[in-house]
Amino acid sequence: MEDTIFGQIVRGEAPAYKVYEDKDTLAFLNIHPDSVGHTLVIPKVAARNIFDVDADTFTKVMQTVHDLAPKLRDALGASGMRIVINNEAEAGQVVFHIHVHLIPFYKNHAAEIPDGESLEEVATRITASLT
Ligand code: 5GP
Repeated sequence: MEDTIFGQIVRGEAPAYKVYEDKDTLAFLNIHPDSVGHTLVIPKVAARNIFDVDADTFTKVMQTVHDLAPKLRDALGASGMRIVINNEAEAGQVVFHIHVHLIPFYKNHAAEIPDGESLEEVATRITASLT
């Protein structure tokens, strides 16, 4: 398994705006968001993608996705959410540590374009709503 930037984020060796963490999974903001609040959910153990991850690890990731999706929607005032996993380069995977994209959609489409609000401010808005 190659080391990845997400492995470094799990180990605290690279920074990230974390919005949720438990024993097995971590959720943080995408550094290049497609919309405000674009979040990535990953397992803490390294697995390349759907073809490599064990069922238990994948289940834990999807449990976090299921818990977080409505909370993110409510925290951000989003009305919809696209949930995506890219597996292998041919399908658009760039970081080879499995991750689930949670991409909020808004009735007000302007909100999909980050409007001067920093990732830190978005993360604070989410975590304040979660606690
Ligand atoms: P993929 O195309 O592999 O499904 O998506 C990888 C995602 O990770 C991209 O959307 C990219 O913006 C995001 N990303 C890449 N490097 C970093 C990083 O260092 N930090 C964060 N938070 N996101 C990253």
